[in-house]
Amino acid sequence: MIVILSKNISPHNKEMIRIYLHDRGFSLREQNFEDNAIIGAIGKGAVDFHELSSLPGVEGVKATSKPYELASRDTKREDTIVTVGPVKIGGSRISVIAGPCAVESKEQIYETAALVRESGAVMLRGGAYKPRTSPYAFQGLGMRGLEYMKAAGEAQGMPIVTEVVSPELAVQMNDLTDMFQIGARNMQNFELLKKVGSLKKPVLLKRGPSATIEEWLLSAEYLLASGTRDVALCERGIRTFETYTRNTLDISVIPVVKELSHLPVLVDPSHALGIRAKVAPAALAAIAAGADGLTVEVHPRPDEALSDGPQSLYPEQFERLMRDIEAMAPVVGKELLRTPRRIYAGGVSRTCEEPTRQTGFSNQVAFSGEPGAYSEQALLRVFGEDIPRLGAPSFKKVFDAVLDGTAHAGVMPVENSLTGSIHENYDLFLQYPDIDIVGELKLRIVHCLIGAQETALDAVTVVRSHPQGFAQCRDFLDRHPQWRLESYANTASAAGSIIKENASGTAAIAGEDAAKAFGLKILKTGIENNPLNYTRFVIIARKIGDKAPIPPSLGSDKPNKASLVFSVSDKPGALFACLKILSERGLNLSKLESRPIHGQPWRYLFYVDVSIPETEPVFDQVLEDLKTQTEDFRFLGAYRGAP
Ligand code: PEP
Ligand code: MN
Repeated sequence: MIVILSKNISPHNKEMIRIYLHDRGFSLREQNFEDNAIIGAIGKGAVDFHELSSLPGVEGVKATSKPYELASRDTKREDTIVTVGPVKIGGSRISVIAGPCAVESKEQIYETAALVRESGAVMLRGGAYKPRTSPYAFQGLGMRGLEYMKAAGEAQGMPIVTEVVSPELAVQMNDLTDMFQIGARNMQNFELLKKVGSLKKPVLLKRGPSATIEEWLLSAEYLLASGTRDVALCERGIRTFETYTRNTLDISVIPVVKELSHLPVLVDPSHALGIRAKVAPAALAAIAAGADGLTVEVHPRPDEALSDGPQSLYPEQFERLMRDIEAMAPVVGKELLRTPRRIYAGGVSRTCEEPTRQTGFSNQVAFSGEPGAYSEQALLRVFGEDIPRLGAPSFKKVFDAVLDGTAHAGVMPVENSLTGSIHENYDLFLQYPDIDIVGELKLRIVHCLIGAQETALDAVTVVRSHPQGFAQCRDFLDRHPQWRLESYANTASAAGSIIKENASGTAAIAGEDAAKAFGLKILKTGIENNPLNYTRFVIIARKIGDKAPIPPSLGSDKPNKASLVFSVSDKPGALFACLKILSERGLNLSKLESRPIHGQPWRYLFYVDVSIPETEPVFDQVLEDLKTQTEDFRFLGAYRGAP
């Protein structure tokens, strides 16, 4: 049973509730979640629910049927986001932890840390105390190894995770590690769980080689009940009759556990497969099944590794895996969390400081629409849940907010993979010459038909959405010609209007998040014409001098893409001359589109996206040459292209 305490409960009332439950035969566990504190009352005590609910400070009482309570989704509906220093695990991000099986030397862990970070890992793993099957195998460097790893992590700006094998060591290691790992062999070492939980550090809890899901979640319950709130589960393969692979990766556990529990689920494909060549495919399968991230063994020279060499990836294999995960992330509606590559000191790059310190602007980011809008989803992917958000009533107002400093950045949809460019937004760039593109993101768009809780699909007569929503769901709408379509400024405000007007018989085309934000019901999901439906968003910021600063959340990777807009004179070969400049310097053209120039019938502006070559002087020269061949020329920004 879960007792939800009201937000401002007094210590006296809390104590009275504890006494009340204790007297009735329950053992108690308290846990603080973001919104409320709860008391988990465990045991077979008898209680009058009505009486308990009316005690001062009790907001609600829930009966639970599961043997674990704090770990259960019945207790907490929203996903837990585990925080390890600057790294977050869970929600809509994929977080990858990488490093060697064991810390072998100072040089080896420094070298590995630099390599995995360069490929995009956000945390460093490595064993200082190795629980080995054979007592004669390498047992790890102990505290010395942990000190090396801590320093290597700090040098690369990465938090570390390492296995703890005894309660005594947990106390000794506490100051050095950012996250404790409970290894598979120790999953049911309850004294260890209690001690580690009481230290309140984040914990990565491996699944035991023959643990059932329930046993695993009960071990998580031990950690939560002892005091920590940051527990990430990690599937690492279970013992089956199969001997070809080291263990059997239980992919099915990912969707199952994510439904049973609010805790994030990571996957360790290295210990599951035990065979290097099979690690990447299994890792991708785990991501496809909904894993919140991975922990992967990588060694600079796996053949020389003192433990688990055969399953450790070569750095190139890890780099390739990270690129594949990045390409796959939008398909599963997630974003690969990245540690920015090293600060790049070249010409197109800019410094990476806090926006407010750097610009004096607000730390808000603007998007168009209301909570639950696709633009808000894109914003959250780029800037994280903690960034203050400003929902503007139109795309133009997003530009205004960025221009007047109410927001230090804005998020704008510019193109959809099914319906093409959102011209209205492209045209805004011409009206706001002081605003540049500083980043981009591609978001998979799954449209839903949503309505009030009491609305049934066959009662719908009116459908509201942004014109893009209608266009992307044309085939579905054509099957319902009797529906009247009403245009809104964005999909989320279309959804919100149903609630505001209490409009039964009216539905909206919008995303699942908009349905959640307004407490609406999904009547049908996946109604877009083609599941490969992506919208490209750009991040905009105001120029300081001749360039806009890149917000720190976008990282400091070297820009590899630029957007330009220009017009050419009305003579044969004028556009060709421009394209020839790009072609001769080997610049890849990823977009070329013409737009009519307002007030000049039959004259056009060309919008161009190009790759930026590694050698920047070449790019600067290209820009100079283009200016000589064009009439109007505007550089819209250099940024890191999304895969
Ligand atoms: C490890 O991750 O280093 C490890 C030993 O894993 P497991 O406990 O899953 O075997
Ligand atoms: Mn290992």
